[in-house]
Amino acid sequence: MKVELQNLTKIFPGRNKKVHEEVIAVNNFTFTIPDGKLVGLLGPSGCGKSTTLYMISGLQQPSGGKIFFGDEDVTDLSPENRGIGLVFQNYALYPHMTVKQNIMFPLQNLRGPDKMEKEAMIERAYEVAKLVQIDELMDRKPSELSGGQQQRVAIARALVKMPRVLLLDEPLSNLDARLRLQTREEIRRIQRETGITTVFVTHDQEEAMSISDLIVVMKLGVVQQVGKPQEVYDNPTNLFVAKFLGTPPINVFDGEVKGGKLYLGDAAVLDVPGVDDCKVYVGIRPEGFVPAENGALEASLNNVEVMGRDVSVVSTHVASLNPVVRSIVDADYKISKDDESVRFDLKPHKVFLFDKETEERIYFEVK
Ligand code: ADP
Ligand code: MG
Repeated sequence: MKVELQNLTKIFPGRNKKVHEEVIAVNNFTFTIPDGKLVGLLGPSGCGKSTTLYMISGLQQPSGGKIFFGDEDVTDLSPENRGIGLVFQNYALYPHMTVKQNIMFPLQNLRGPDKMEKEAMIERAYEVAKLVQIDELMDRKPSELSGGQQQRVAIARALVKMPRVLLLDEPLSNLDARLRLQTREEIRRIQRETGITTVFVTHDQEEAMSISDLIVVMKLGVVQQVGKPQEVYDNPTNLFVAKFLGTPPINVFDGEVKGGKLYLGDAAVLDVPGVDDCKVYVGIRPEGFVPAENGALEASLNNVEVMGRDVSVVSTHVASLNPVVRSIVDADYKISKDDESVRFDLKPHKVFLFDKETEERIYFEVK
């Protein structure tokens, strides 16, 4: 089921009666979620992810704009009639019911022609329980399950009505690191197997990058960039997106373009053909540094952390806007911790320039 958001906007009135400062939680969001894909809605806390999800679900009414499921305008349809499955961060299971009863609950509320016989309900409950691999826990109560298992029950409950669209709001946040990893792979598998169009909300860029067919990066209610995770990582449209994606995060410097060359401090570190002279922010991905004896960029060496295949080189540079510069280099480069300084060449496609005012990307030709 294709989901189309057209100029979707949500404005909350100010709570403070004197100031009347309204919040534009979601601002003119236009995007089409392709049929059968998993879209990751990504951004810092408060950027409007949940509000977007609740408007798709029908739990919140947009202040403006429209929502289509396929060709059907669902903007004014109630949540029950949209055919959605919702999973929240806190699993919100009914504590007094068994797993089986929890999963069957949405089916018991079906009325009219959709009403199901008890046998059929149980059969369906077992089907989805198998899908999320909890079919052996059906007679337990939620309190007898681990966090990961409880979240699977919540997912099964969201799936049991065979929704047209699955909506997940930070579903992994309450799980510990290992379970989080496991459950996110599980969600990916279930999504692939069922082919249900899915929106996955998270503030965790790594999570979004690893699980999504497409990511939508948001800031203060405004969509910043949409694309395949790798594309967005490789080609951020502004400084915010560049900084939000990637671990370790991108290194940001104050720089200046003069005569087609990029300067960090006094050193010309890269040719940037086609860029007019100006001051810029410079983002360099950690993997964009290549140790080289006569490298153009010299930094004071702080530490060398060996991580097996790769080595993390920690240094400082006068033009850096972060306390340290982090570069990830191949372990084949032998860098001694005792050296005072380290020199790098830069990989041009890992270096991004941004306008100092607008923080929008300034493109240069990469040879
Ligand atoms: P996210 O899920 O990305 O953390 P939300 O969608 O929950 O962000 O919130 C977006 C903005 O809207 C925030 O500034 C938040 O304070 C505000 N907001 C959310 N819900 C309400 C509400 N019911 N009333 C007023 N403001 C709200
Ligand atoms: Mg939220």
